[in-house]
Amino acid sequence: MNAPSAGQTHWVVRMNHRNRAWSWVIVFATLAVHFWGQGHSLLIWGLLALQFLVYPHVVFLRARHARHPLTAEIHNLLLDNFCFGVWMAALGFPLWCAFTLFICGSINMAAFRGRNGLLMALGAALAGCLLVRALRGQWLFLPDTSLLVSFMNMGGLAAYLLMFASSTNSRTVALHETRLKLRQSEAALQQQLQDIQSLQAKLTDQANRDALTGLYNRRYLNDSLQREFDRCARNGAPLSILLIDLDHFKQINDVHGHAAGDDVLRQVAALLQQDMRSSDICCRYGGEEFLLVLPAMAMDAALARAEHCRTRLAEQPWLADGRWVSVTLSIGVASVPAAGMAPEALIALADQALYRAKAEGRNRVCPPAGLPAVDLAEALPMRQQSA
Ligand code: GH3
Ligand code: MG
Ligand code: MG
Repeated sequence: MNAPSAGQTHWVVRMNHRNRAWSWVIVFATLAVHFWGQGHSLLIWGLLALQFLVYPHVVFLRARHARHPLTAEIHNLLLDNFCFGVWMAALGFPLWCAFTLFICGSINMAAFRGRNGLLMALGAALAGCLLVRALRGQWLFLPDTSLLVSFMNMGGLAAYLLMFASSTNSRTVALHETRLKLRQSEAALQQQLQDIQSLQAKLTDQANRDALTGLYNRRYLNDSLQREFDRCARNGAPLSILLIDLDHFKQINDVHGHAAGDDVLRQVAALLQQDMRSSDICCRYGGEEFLLVLPAMAMDAALARAEHCRTRLAEQPWLADGRWVSVTLSIGVASVPAAGMAPEALIALADQALYRAKAEGRNRVCPPAGLPAVDLAEALPMRQQSA
């Protein structure tokens, strides 16, 4: 049960006030009929009116303004039961009246506090009875009620129970609607979470990619190269890298314009990606430099792969920004057989090999110094083997 916000009356306090205000009028009328003709004093009539017509509003105001309205209302319910105990004993337990008072008093406590509430209600009613017994010095026992009083009690009790059931129903409906809204909010939250996650994935991917070519960038390479090295070392597999540099690219920019140069970079990137295996990593290493990481690929197959790229690019002119452009590549290849070399050292080896390729005339593939530059005629069949 939620605490009410400022200025709002707790729903239990409101509900009990409504139920008390209406049903106790009926109880008042019933007891009045029961009293009629018994010659009771004005004091008793006054007490009857106070108890059943005024008391419901007084306890409502008390609970409404209490610091803890729900606790105050539970105290009200216990007080109801105590007063009913007093009335039952004072009237000599008239059967139907006592029954009605007992049910009206205990049902609320049972509803709000369960079995313990019921026991507390019984205790309070018993305390009321015992108080009367102590004041009077003996028990009074007058169980008979007239037919009219019995009918009135039945009617009053039925009205009270129906009112109670209707209040319970409205609370159940309200609870159901709240649950529905909660479920909808939860679904909306889930959707937002998914959107955030996919946005996050998109942002991470964007942060790892080069805007011009769509290839991975150097930052991604730095993050992933050591991982690939470790994986190959664990599996006892070789790993090769190709460091690729466009020949005289500055001239392409100078002669055909920067836009054509950009176009060439995009087309070279697309070409490099064509024969990629799922484990290969292709990234833009610098302005017109690319780096291919080839896990589980030995030097001979890497040389063949490099040669294949070089020939594919060199054998035809490319249309870049509406102009025919001839592009060639120089590629330095380096390989680590199984384990024991740091990624930076391997890149340095590939850089040396690239320098060698440039120095030997460009448009060629070179392994590190000590190994001969690849022979195209032998390399291509090797590539077939490795594919
Ligand atoms: P080399 O054969 O020795 O590699 O000669 P090169 O002209 O390719 O090498 P250099 O390092 O002198 O020039 C690289 C050029 O690449 C210079 C720079 O303007 C150009 N470049 C770098 N990034 C981009 C880019 O994103 N777009 C374009 N269009 N050009 C770029
Ligand atoms: Mg360069
Ligand atoms: Mg260059």
